[in-house]
Amino acid sequence: MRLLTLFIITLSFGTIGQVNRSLDTVLMGSSFSFTAITDTDSLAGIAVRSAVNEVVRIESLISSWDPNSQTSAINNNAGIQPTKVSYELYELIRRSKKISAMSNGYFDISYASMDRIWDFSKKKAKLPSDASIENSVSKVNFKNIQLNPDDTSVFLVEKGMKIGFGAIGKGYAAEQAKQVMLSNQSKSGVVNAGGDLIAWGSKPDASSWKVGIQDPNDNKKIIMWVPATNTSVVTSGNYERFIEINGSEYCHIINPKLGWPAKNLSSVTVICSNAELADALATTVFVLGTENGLLLINNIEGVECIIIDDQDKMHFSDKIESNIVKNEI
Ligand code: ADP
Ligand code: MG
Repeated sequence: MRLLTLFIITLSFGTIGQVNRSLDTVLMGSSFSFTAITDTDSLAGIAVRSAVNEVVRIESLISSWDPNSQTSAINNNAGIQPTKVSYELYELIRRSKKISAMSNGYFDISYASMDRIWDFSKKKAKLPSDASIENSVSKVNFKNIQLNPDDTSVFLVEKGMKIGFGAIGKGYAAEQAKQVMLSNQSKSGVVNAGGDLIAWGSKPDASSWKVGIQDPNDNKKIIMWVPATNTSVVTSGNYERFIEINGSEYCHIINPKLGWPAKNLSSVTVICSNAELADALATTVFVLGTENGLLLINNIEGVECIIIDDQDKMHFSDKIESNIVKNEI
């Protein structure tokens, strides 16, 4: 369900001959903003509107809430039969499975069968029983998402299995929105997909885009700025969506091996050229924790990360520190 569609369009002029137009709206249940820098105002308008249309299109493809989406068709046919889907959705699932393999199953789009027991739409809830947690985990296994390249069909082998793109969908949408804006002559721009950010080119004053990393304890405070030139910067945090049970907070990122919400970290920011990969890896590192998370990231060329643990200690991947600008607060 779309919560609210609100457009805020701003227009400003940078260096001579450049127009900077931004559009803010709610898509995929999150705040999105699109900033296009083009030569004319009409081009900028077309670029941002095309990007919105692209995200709306992606949402209707990947949403597991929409009963008419191809994703729901896959879920409804779990344990029954394969579902033929578009090449685009097939490929998104194939890439998701690759990240599962890379992360030894800590990232898993079949986590979604657990959403019956952890309902993060409620602010107060009851702790699920051990038996129900155990039962829900038994349906989580990316290896049971069968892909058939011959007819681009997807089969969830076990009844009760379910996939969901909560940890990768916004990154994919941001990436696609950027491509649409680029093809509409937005030579520079930024897409902010509910905190999943991708920037290309430079600001209208020719300086580089900078992305602020929020203080997990105070969302008005920026604790550091990351320069973003042709990069995506994606943060997964435990401070935005959680439920409180008996005075403890449980976040919406689940350890798929245990069935319990991930603990020990407050936020994970991943920086790499592709927003989809950054989105998926931010969630993955959140589950893996500091040590194993850094081990994973340090082994992937071109990907960096910043971790803030629950003791407010910051940890950086190997090649990052020299490139970031720390804020003195
Ligand atoms: P946000 O949506 O706040 O940016 P994330 O990108 O980290 O946060 O995605 C969290 C969402 O991913 C959860 O709400 C859930 O839908 C899904 N998810 C939770 N745990 C996992 C997991 N281990 N693997 C894949 N997806 C997950
Ligand atoms: Mg994510």
